[in-house]
Parts: sequence; C-alpha cells; structure tokens
Amino acid sequence: MADSTVKRITVIGGGPAGYIAALEAARRGAEVVLVEKRDLGGTCLNRGCIPSKAYLKNAEIIAGIKKAGERGIDIADSSLSVDMVRARDMKNKVVGKLVGGVAGLLKAAGVKVKNAEGRLQKDGSVLLDGRERLESDAVILAGGSRTVRIPVPGADLPGVMTSDEMLDLDTVPDRLLVVGGGVIGLEMAQVFHAFGSAVTIVEAESRILPFMDGEISTVMHSVLTDAGITVHTGISLQEIREASGGLEAILAGGDTVPCDAVLLSVGRGTDISSLGDAPVTTKKGRVTINEQMETFMSGVFAAGDITGQKMLAHAAFRMGEVAAANAMGERERLNLSCVPGIVYTHPEVGTVGASAEELDKRGEPYETGYFSLAYNGRALASGEEVGFVKVFSGPKYGEILGVHIVAAGASELINEAAALMAMEVTVDEIPGIIHGHPTVSEAFMEAAADARGRSLHLPMKSR
Ligand code: FAD
Repeated sequence: MADSTVKRITVIGGGPAGYIAALEAARRGAEVVLVEKRDLGGTCLNRGCIPSKAYLKNAEIIAGIKKAGERGIDIADSSLSVDMVRARDMKNKVVGKLVGGVAGLLKAAGVKVKNAEGRLQKDGSVLLDGRERLESDAVILAGGSRTVRIPVPGADLPGVMTSDEMLDLDTVPDRLLVVGGGVIGLEMAQVFHAFGSAVTIVEAESRILPFMDGEISTVMHSVLTDAGITVHTGISLQEIREASGGLEAILAGGDTVPCDAVLLSVGRGTDISSLGDAPVTTKKGRVTINEQMETFMSGVFAAGDITGQKMLAHAAFRMGEVAAANAMGERERLNLSCVPGIVYTHPEVGTVGASAEELDKRGEPYETGYFSLAYNGRALASGEEVGFVKVFSGPKYGEILGVHIVAAGASELINEAAALMAMEVTVDEIPGIIHGHPTVSEAFMEAAADARGRSLHLPMKSR
C-alpha cells in the first residue's frame, strides 16, 4: 500500500532543471517520476553546453598548434585538417558518458524515469503519450527550450541549420555564414573557423554580444576579425537563396554573402508542450512563475529555460533545486542576481552583475576598476595577454555592482567574482584576499583594488 505521507512529485523534462529537481525531491524523501520525451540531460548535455565545449577544446588545440612556432616549437609538417567524423565520435562519447551518469544518479536516487511526452491536464494529472495518467501531489514543468528558425525566405533550404544540426555535421563547410552574433553564434563561428571554414557573422544589432558590456563587444570584434572572421553588424538577413555551387544570403541593403552552410543562431524558443490543456499562465511563450517558482496553477512549479529567465544550465540547476524544495513544502526564494554569463570563445568572456550601459541607464553612480591582461604575468607567459578585467563598484560602500572579464580562463575566474558579489564582499576587502601568483585571477584582485586607486601593479594615479 502507498504511504500517504510520502509526497509524489512528477517532473516533466530531464534537462538540467528537471533532473536536478528530480534528484532534490528524491533527496528530500519524495516518490519521483521524471518524464523525458527525448534524452536525459536535455539540451545542455546532448545539443548544447557539452557538445559545443568538446568542439571548442578542439579549436583551442588548433590555435595552440598554430602559435607553437612563436614559442620556439617547430612542428615539421604544418598541414592541419579536422576529420569531422572522428571529432563527432569523440564528442558523442563524452555526451554518452555524461547522459549515462545522469541516468545512474536518477536510478541511485530511486527516481522512476518514463520515456514519454508528458502533458499536464486541467485536473493536475500528467498524461503520458496520451495513454498513461500519472497522479501526483506536485508537478514541476522543466520542458526547456528548442531551436528557432527566423521567418526569412529560404530558412528551410538544405544547408541552413540550427545549432542542433551544426553540432552533428560530418564535414566542415567551406564557407559558413553565422546569423546572430550572440553566445552560440560566436562559439560556433570560432569552432568552424578553426576547423577550416571561411566564416562570416551577420548581427542585426549594432554590435556583437549586444546584451553584454560594450567593451567586451569591442574586444571580441577585434579578436574575431584579426583571426580572419568577417563580421557585419547593424545589418539583418533578408533571404537565403540557392546559388550555383551553394547558397547565397541577401542582406538588408542588397549585399550578398556566398556560402555553403548557414547557421541560424538567433535565440531560442521555449518548449511548452508539457503544458497540455492545463491553465498555466504564459507570457510570450514563457511560463510565468513567482519568486518561489510556482506557476499560477496550484501545485505546479516551473524551472529552467521554460520560464525564459536566464536561459543557462547553471541557472536551470538552481531553479530545479528551489522548485523541488518548494514542491516539498519549503518557501525558498529564487535569487538570480549573481548568475555568471559566459562565452566560451578564445579568449573567454565572463560577466556577472550590471554592465556600464545598464548602470548608466539606471543613473546609478559607480567607480570603475580596470586591469589589462597585458600587465598580468601569467597571461603574458601563456601568450594570452588579450583581455581585461573590469569591476564596477558603489562609490560609498564599495559593493560590487558588476564584473566583466575577457581572458583565457574567464569561465573559471568569473565564479570568484560571482561568489564575492553574492557574499557582499567589497572592493575594499578584495585586495586583502591573497591570490596565488602567477595566476590570471590576480587581475581580478588588481581591478578591484584599482576601483579605489589601490592597485600597486598599475602606475599610481595622480593625487
Ligand atoms: P533543456 O536542457 O532544454 O531540457 C528540457 C528537456 O525537457 C528536454 O530533454 C526535452 O526533451 C524535455 N521535454 C520538453 N517537453 C517535454 C514533454 N512535454 N514531455 C517530456 N519531456 C519534455 N548553457 C550554459 O549554461 N552553458 C553553456 O555553455 C551553454 N551552451 C549552450 C550551447 C548551445 C549550442 C545551446 C543550444 C545551449 C547552450 N546552453 C548553455 C543553454 C543550456 O543548454 C540551457 O540553458 C539548459 O539546457 C536549460 O536546461 P532545462 O532543463 O531548462 O532545459
């Protein structure tokens, strides 16, 4: 007989939000069913974070080989090519290992996994593939997101892809057009440029990475163009046509870009198939939640990309954890104020908190600390001196308002900044935190010190 004191939780979606929600609910003693229509691990493990990082590592290795000569390392045969079939196999092996790991964690936690499409019903039950009905005390919607194609003529031609198809290619396109200069666009542009494609990026906004601090866009624009990637900003794609020997993209104004493949990286849409006929409120296709991750349907919570808030795996993990705690009766509040944003290009970009543009718009006074990697010993020794660390802080109390980094290893550095920001450590305290030497993270300490004119590795500011 079922124990009526044990809560039954149904989670729809087995990506970062869903599998963490399932694990957390199970850890708290619930009987959990996780419903996944495709693959455990969701977008992140199968078609997102992990596959793209496997390829970015290949790109980094290629960059290292190309720069070897500058460091006195001679490689006798300078020809270099990428076998995409083997590269893809290697990527799939990593994905398989991680997906298997998630399955193992769920099994060990006693979570029952159903491979089906789940649809929430008006009465709170979940219908699986239109056949089986699951009753539970709470439901967590974690259906995540999917690729989108912009509605331009030719967007469905062969050779026009989203990141899903791009990450499964078995050949390297000769000429690749990347539509969208956001995170996924830049990462894929660098990967395929390293693999041998001639790459052009088209971004409709006035700068690439338009939602980030302006100086990051400027530095990354130079990094890409210096490497030989063509970047057009402030111009939109109008049409894609078949042309002799490939495709042709028509840009606003009439310019054309000949290409063999097009990557549409223009943002992602939510997958709300899990909503079924339930009266769950959505806004622009995103499930509306309150601070405790409840939807406006009693007993129904939502976490991850499906909410449209910070569409990142690490935010989804935290949302999944909080949703599960609250589904189990807690009243935890979600705080996404210190979520790092990362671009895994080379150099990497890491940001947390407000950009200069946001602070200016809010009319908020701030001090700026700045440290160029050209002054950082470790960066110079590694030949990675392109980049900077910038810290914005409140003039009165020295609280960190935002940190913006372009640096090799920024994906790791930004976590220290986010942790200190979350713990409300001030720029007056950071110089007292002894950082290992030589490390690139010293640049963060120096930038924080510079916000108060205290960096001793910068020429003293005139008094
Ligand atoms: P998802 O990972 O999308 O998982 C949702 C799951 O729900 C899917 O498996 C889906 O099949 C399932 N599902 C949906 N509806 C139903 C239904 N009705 N019934 C059953 N199952 C259902 N983020 C980062 O933080 N770092 C990165 O480096 C990064 N790189 C990325 C690179 C690319 C190319 C892409 C596309 C994304 C990247 N992201 C990255 C974003 C990250 O993948 C997402 O933010 C993250 O996967 C969101 O997790 P989620 O659980 O909310 O949704």
